[in-house]
Amino acid sequence: MEDLFKNRIDFLKSEIIKHNKLYYEQNSPQISDGEYDALFRELKELEASFPQYSTADSPTKKVGSSVSQEFKEITHKYRLYSLDNSNNYEELKAWYNRVLKDLGKEDVELVCELKIDGLAMALSYINGDFTTGATRGNGIIGEDITVNLKTIKNIPQRINYKNSLEVRGEVYMPVTSFEKLNQQRLEEGKSLFANPRNAAGGSVRQLDSEVTKERDLAFFAYMGILEELKEGFNTHYQVLEFLKNQGFAVNENIRICKNIGEAVNYCKEWEEKRFKLNYATDGIVIKVNNIAYQDELGYTSRAPKWATAFKFKPEEAVTKLLNIEINVGRTGAITPVAILEPVKLAGTVVSRASLHNADEIERLDIRIGDYVWVKKAAEIIPKVVKVELSRREENLSKFLYPKFCPICGAIIEKDEDGVIQYCTNENNCPAQIKGRLKYWASKDGVDIDGLGESIVEQLFDGGLIFNYSDFYYLTKNDFLKLDKIADKSAQNLINAIENSKKTEFAAFISALGIKFVGKETAELLAKVFPNFEKLKEASLEELASIEGIGEKIAKSIIKFFSKPENIDIIKKLFDSGFEIIYPSKISENAPFLGLTFVFTGALNTITRNEAQKLAKSLGANVTNSVSKNTSYVVVGEDAGSKFDKAQKLGVMIIDENQFLDMVKRGQTKN
Ligand code: NAD
Repeated sequence: MEDLFKNRIDFLKSEIIKHNKLYYEQNSPQISDGEYDALFRELKELEASFPQYSTADSPTKKVGSSVSQEFKEITHKYRLYSLDNSNNYEELKAWYNRVLKDLGKEDVELVCELKIDGLAMALSYINGDFTTGATRGNGIIGEDITVNLKTIKNIPQRINYKNSLEVRGEVYMPVTSFEKLNQQRLEEGKSLFANPRNAAGGSVRQLDSEVTKERDLAFFAYMGILEELKEGFNTHYQVLEFLKNQGFAVNENIRICKNIGEAVNYCKEWEEKRFKLNYATDGIVIKVNNIAYQDELGYTSRAPKWATAFKFKPEEAVTKLLNIEINVGRTGAITPVAILEPVKLAGTVVSRASLHNADEIERLDIRIGDYVWVKKAAEIIPKVVKVELSRREENLSKFLYPKFCPICGAIIEKDEDGVIQYCTNENNCPAQIKGRLKYWASKDGVDIDGLGESIVEQLFDGGLIFNYSDFYYLTKNDFLKLDKIADKSAQNLINAIENSKKTEFAAFISALGIKFVGKETAELLAKVFPNFEKLKEASLEELASIEGIGEKIAKSIIKFFSKPENIDIIKKLFDSGFEIIYPSKISENAPFLGLTFVFTGALNTITRNEAQKLAKSLGANVTNSVSKNTSYVVVGEDAGSKFDKAQKLGVMIIDENQFLDMVKRGQTKN
């Protein structure tokens, strides 16, 4: 039995060594960090349970990997270490308790720093000159990449401090530069980098420094070792300030925390906020601030005891592509969706990811059965970043993008811009019709309460509706024929449909589902045109001259109203008693006239929709995005990026109560 564990330990060791080489030396990992960390943890646990099999050459006792033969070696003056890490707050608190116990203290001051996901570097300064720069390597010997590091603009070549100094920090590639680089490589048919860290690694560990120079790299300093350190500085934070004064980029988000409680809050804060940064972070590094305490705590063979890393939940993973589903939207737009073997990403299980369009599939050469890297950032649909070609099984055939709509069989054509493909069977494709029907009933349409997507599907499949005017001729009996609809719900649906017969002008325009005309454009049109007749008869020039409309949208509107079938449906709709509610003329002294509101987050006492209506009724303009022209951003719970943008632009931020007070008083304009 014990042999089994020894075999497993040996297997894990050789796997980890293999992946270390791929990651550190070739910047080309074949598994995600999450998968790697799982192997590493398992090995650590087995070694703890079977110490007889724990050897000094185990990767759990070492730092990094061996040093590539391609570079000159540098023996580090001071050893470089890795960091132990915690995946949850209990482990983090356990680390803090060990620190307190070792120091015999009740509390100890900490410094929290973002863990930049780049490459560790050691830079030497002698007599004020940047002399050598090396990778961490195995912690004792690193690779000499001085010439490459000298091409990085924010690494100072000369500093005022004249005694010998070693600066430790991270070389990284900004996210936007990484995306640009990958796009360029895709066009050139080169292999892609899985993430900004690998792109930074592949750029800074180059034999030709000209290549490094072309790549957009930057450096953050997070530690300094000074010759006369102990005389001058007592804390790590003071050293960081010193580095800043010497011209090094020190991350602006570093914070002193009085105890572990404050450090946990810092971690929680950045778990969300990190997605807004233009550099990748994979956790928080928590360090004991007092340097004398650091010395007292010391190191293990692999990591300092005075610091630890709190690791964020991985935002990227490698998983198998089970299928590529072709979705057809209400406007006929075709979007390919990756169906994935379920995988945990940033804390949630993901089984679908965006593949953008046919060109993207072609360029990435994605094949069903491939292992793919998927990435998720906050609020963004996960996307497939690249194919892990090293794990491609033999005989996977190229994905043939359909030429015909998978739902109705009609031909697929590209739009004018040549990017998005459309099913050309606008009138009869069931996917498009269902899409339009669902949109009509949705919140962006006339908002028929309770009439969700599955009911629309059933009504259509049962032959009860074909276009949106049909909703208004349905009977209670029709609903009773559907699955799981009893008397009361059938009546509620009939009532909801009846209520939707009076719809505001803008909502009505949006509900029509005209290609390129969403909620915001509809609102714009509702402001410009006094009534529906005028909109219907508007000329191309008239429409295109409206600010925010443009020729593409204008053409689409003209096309929509030129089709007799659309006119017939609208007539049938009005015959049912449907009525457009036009905005009552806002009086010139309406209290919110001239003000622009943006609402974000969930409100407590009223819905966001109701709040928006309220603001509009008092003359306000309501938009979806924050700009310097926004007067107020009304912030509810779990507000997202709009809140940050408002702060950045200095736009007035108010909460729900303040907004409701304003409404009550109606006296904002002064
Ligand atoms: P680490 O990256 O978990 O932590 C140590 C490193 O953090 C330091 O060397 C330093 O470079 C960095 N760091 C960033 N910001 C810092 C700051 N403010 N202060 C101090 N240090 C900071 O440890 P590691 O040994 O470099 O790498 C191990 C990790 O690398 C694994 O957990 C895994 O995620 C990844 N890895 C992945 C693979 C793979 O195949 N996918 C292979 C090997 C390693």
